Order: sequence, then structure tokens, then C-alpha cells
Amino acid sequence: MHGAIVRNISEEIGGASGYLTIDLAALARNYTRLAAEVAPARAAAVVKADAYGLGADRVAPRLYAEGCRHFFVAQFIEALRLRHLLADDAQIFVLNGLLPGNESACAHHGIVPVINSLEQWHQWAGAAKAVGRPLPAVLQFDTGMSRLGLPPEERETLAGLVKVEAGISVLFVMSHLASADDAESAQNAGQLAEMQAVAGAFPQFDVCFANSGGIFLGRPYHGVLARPGIALYGGAPAPGRANPMEPVVSLDIPVVQTRTVQAGARVGYSGTHLATGEMRLATIAAGYADGLPRSLSDRGAFYCDGIRLPIIGRVSMDSITIDISALPEGRLRLGSLVELLGPHQTLEDVARDAGTISYEILTGLGNRYQRSYFSHHRFPSRAS
Ligand SMILES: *Cc1c(COP(=O)(O)O)cnc(C)c1O
Repeated sequence: MHGAIVRNISEEIGGASGYLTIDLAALARNYTRLAAEVAPARAAAVVKADAYGLGADRVAPRLYAEGCRHFFVAQFIEALRLRHLLADDAQIFVLNGLLPGNESACAHHGIVPVINSLEQWHQWAGAAKAVGRPLPAVLQFDTGMSRLGLPPEERETLAGLVKVEAGISVLFVMSHLASADDAESAQNAGQLAEMQAVAGAFPQFDVCFANSGGIFLGRPYHGVLARPGIALYGGAPAPGRANPMEPVVSLDIPVVQTRTVQAGARVGYSGTHLATGEMRLATIAAGYADGLPRSLSDRGAFYCDGIRLPIIGRVSMDSITIDISALPEGRLRLGSLVELLGPHQTLEDVARDAGTISYEILTGLGNRYQRSYFSHHRFPSRAS
């Protein structure tokens, strides 16, 4: 299998902090699954922060091939990098909106800003006037998150402005849900009501609303275009509930040393872990500089042959020590791999142990890993 070959070569090269494998076929199936969930609405893809750390240069073209034509990034610089990777019929939207000085480059490269304020509306209208042709935009409204978008008290002013010929062609009105990962949260219905009020004030425009969690809140949240991010990458749209998405990422870390310590030995910085009996330890090649949070110190685990190997002591910059006493002696040697993300441990498991969310784990994944992308085959099974 092609995948297995790529993997073996990476293992032979060695010297990396770990082996990060990204299953583009699973990514594509996740896209198809989400698109089916929102049909007849369409599914965009949120590929900000380098496609949540997985590599926008590989992820976005694959999603385009799967039929995706709407791509959201956070920053203008990300949109510029993406523009030349995608055909002209792909629309690229900048969620953080226009910053002073971006306008003409944005217009020139055919990038669509999300207009978050009246000031940005006027900036973009000025750019349209300067280039002498209408420019596309998305209008974002704050429906209860107090982060980005026009506040309710400015809706009427904007509604007046869009009626005047300003050279801006509005593609969507949008907003973002603050609590979509929690179907029980009353905030969802409140924001939906606000979004419906926006849609009522701008009846001529289509609605773009749901993120990953919002897609699974049901049809009223779908509008005509959904904006999933984390679910594409295998993260749970609603942590704590069954995850309908396929895993996309696996991460294995090589062992760089093993040892046996006796009762009384201290492990790692500040000696936070005190061995209470003889134990076998392995030190592995990745640490917080590779995006494995320091909050995993004395919490969380790696896996080998399906056996849990707890993290012992502090997470260092470039290494972590794990307790391998539960494995047969000699099972782990220099260069052996242990699993952080894979068949035995999900993104949500690691995020929970680290006291964070799957998003932060993915976007933090470091650049010292050897990355392999699988396009056609499933992962070779590494379960015991
Ligand atoms: C990041 C983001 C998304 C994607 O959210 P997920 O929870 O990852 O699906 C959608 N819309 C906006 C405005 C965002 O900032």
C-alpha cells in the first residue's frame, strides 16, 4: 500500500520529533458527510490557521476536488497564500475583515472580505470606486458573541447604506455561534432568533451561519452555506457526544531512551514525580515545543499495543517521559513509536487531559514532525 510505503520511508529517515499522518481521503469523506447533512444548503470549508495546522496547501485543493467552492480564512495573508492554490471559481473569504491598507490588494486578487463594521463598509465602497467596478463582500452581524460583526444598533444604518448604489455586491449575511458545541445551551436559540432578525432586515441576501456544531443543531441553523472547520479535520462537533466524523490525523512519537528507576527516583523538571517503586520509563522525542501542552505534565498518556502509558513528570520542551512498566520488557527500544493520536486515543481525549479543546491541539502541532499525506488509502492498521 502506498501509505505504508510512505510511512516506512519516514521511519527510516528518522530524526523527527514524530510522525504526523494526515488522511486526505478521510478529510474528503468528512466534507461529503457534512455537505450531505446541510443539503440543499452548501458546505464551505474553514481553512484558517493553515487548515487547523494540517496544511492548507494540501487540504484546500483536496476539498476543492471534492466540490467545495467556498473557503474561509481568518487573515488576509492566509487568503493571499490560498488564492494561487485554487481555481478562480473558488471564493476565498477573510473572516477578520479588511485592515487599512489591504483594500486594493484584496480587490486585485479577487478576495472577499467579511465586512464587520460600518467603517469597513465605507473602506470597501471606496475601494470599489477606485477600481471602477462592483466588489463582493459578506456582511457579518454580532448576534450575541460580542466578537466580530456589526452590533444590532447599526443594522438599520447598514440597511440604508446597502440600498444606495455603493459598488458592493453582498454575497451573504453571516454570524457566528458562540455555543454551538453544546446543543443544550440556550444561547443557540437566542442567536438563531437574532440571525432571523438580520435575515428579515436584509431579505435580499442569503444567510451563512452554522459552524461544525451549528450543522448538527438542525436545519434552521443551516442557511444556504455552512462553515465547518473542526469537523472536517475529524474533531467532534459536540465534544461529549458521539463523534460522527472520521479521524484525519494520527501522531506517533519515537522513543529516544528507556531506563529502569527505583523507588525514590525523581522524574523530570522540579522532580514533580517521585517513583514509589521500581518502574520502567521511556523518554520520547516531542515536548511542548512540538505543541504537546505543558498542561499534560503528570496527566494524560501515550499508547503502545493498545496499552496506556501514563505521562510522568513535567512535559519538557523537546521530550516527555512516560511509564512503560505495563509493557513487556524490551517491547520499546530506541526509535520505537508510541501513539498520541490514533486508534486508541482521540483528539478529544488529548484535549481533555490537557485542559483545552481539540482546536488548540491541532493548531499547535509543531513543525518538527515528519508529515505524510495519504490520498487514496486508509491508514495501515497499527492496532495490536
Ligand atoms: C473558526 C470559525 C468557523 C469554524 O468553526 P468550527 O467550530 O471549527 O467548525 C466558522 N465560522 C467562523 C466565523 C469562525 O471563526
